[in-house]
Amino acid sequence: MFDWIHRTDRPLLVVEGPQVRVVAANAAATALMDQPLLNCEPGPLLAEIGQMPDCSVMERAWMAEPETLQAQFEIDIIAQDGASRRLHCGLRHLTDMHRLITLREGPGRLPNDQATEILDKLPVALEIYDLDFNSLFYNQVSDEMFLYEEKAIVHHDEWWELGFPDPVERAAVFAEWLSKTKAARQDRSVIQFSEWAVQCRDDVRRIVQFRYRFVGDFFLLTWWDVTAQRQSEEHLRQLAVSDPLTGVWNRRRLLQEIGGALEKALAGGPVCSLLSIDIDHFKSINDRFGHPIGDEVLRAIAQRCHALLRGADVLARIGGEEFAVLLIGMGGVEAQIAGQRLLRELCRPIITSAGLAIDISVSIGLATSLPGEQDVDALLSRSDRALYRAKAAGRGCLVVDGS
Ligand code: GH3
Ligand code: MG
Ligand code: MG
Repeated sequence: MFDWIHRTDRPLLVVEGPQVRVVAANAAATALMDQPLLNCEPGPLLAEIGQMPDCSVMERAWMAEPETLQAQFEIDIIAQDGASRRLHCGLRHLTDMHRLITLREGPGRLPNDQATEILDKLPVALEIYDLDFNSLFYNQVSDEMFLYEEKAIVHHDEWWELGFPDPVERAAVFAEWLSKTKAARQDRSVIQFSEWAVQCRDDVRRIVQFRYRFVGDFFLLTWWDVTAQRQSEEHLRQLAVSDPLTGVWNRRRLLQEIGGALEKALAGGPVCSLLSIDIDHFKSINDRFGHPIGDEVLRAIAQRCHALLRGADVLARIGGEEFAVLLIGMGGVEAQIAGQRLLRELCRPIITSAGLAIDISVSIGLATSLPGEQDVDALLSRSDRALYRAKAAGRGCLVVDGS
């Protein structure tokens, strides 16, 4: 059940409560404790192999809630040669019945109890490792997100598979980690920074911002969850380029998309075409039915366009009753066919939510990018001129630039 403890060089024991019986010990723990009893069946009680100066810490730790469980204590071991040795232990929750004990000898202890408690309750996650990334301490906020059910992390390297189940993503993130921790070792004054979408203990992926540096004999890692912040930033970014009435993109976003498409075309990518669409005599719809119905018509037009377009195409509302569609990878006859189909669909009556049938007609101008063309405004004004000609030709039709 606890076979994984044998895969690390770090001395580990698994103990079972409430008597605190050792049920598994890895080779490093057996060597460090110098206790042949460890490999007997059933294993010894912890009290049989060493003396704990402060027994109450163990009892308190055993009673604590899994999420908050985190105890440090010391144990005095009498080795086979009779010598006494003090080991420092860290205790973590594994299952209801089992705790994991990490053992270490000598210096590198965490601060006194009071300071440890402060660190434990810090309002940001704090993790402390030794210089080889063996874990020494996780505080409560860290446990809330990364105390995985299936595995207690005793060395930082064991975290990656849990945090990044996708191997490709894991490799990329790990490469960043390696280069930044290397830099952090070289210049200890620099606080390194990473932000990753991480799989947490509850299987939810969160965007987590990590900051880390080496201090003395320790590697410190703090982090906090920035998911909500990133989501609201993304929402604001979307709002800045969307049309609030119809939900489609606005002129700003259209200009960006045209710029991107022209750049790609210049680099050998496909051509693109722009359709400028203007609703005919829209003012009279407002005049006859009222502004709210006019709004409903605008939304219906946007929906119809959306339903006809492919995923790569870009639909934007660029004026009161004007829309534009950027067709990616379409020019010539193909773009004209797409434009004519849009014209047909948009010139069908719209039935409002109140059951009113409103006759609609639109005019469309079509322009296709020219070889080497980079000027967004030039493409826009060519499709606008074609639109103007469609209006002049009696409306309800499509005119192609240059025809
Ligand atoms: P044309 O065939 O020449 O395009 O005539 P038109 O009436 O469509 O054009 P015009 O530019 O004269 O009028 C556009 C109208 O669109 C006027 C304006 O009140 C209306 N409009 C602009 N924005 C909105 C909006 O958000 N909601 C509604 N309901 N009407 C709008
Ligand atoms: Mg107009
Ligand atoms: Mg109009």
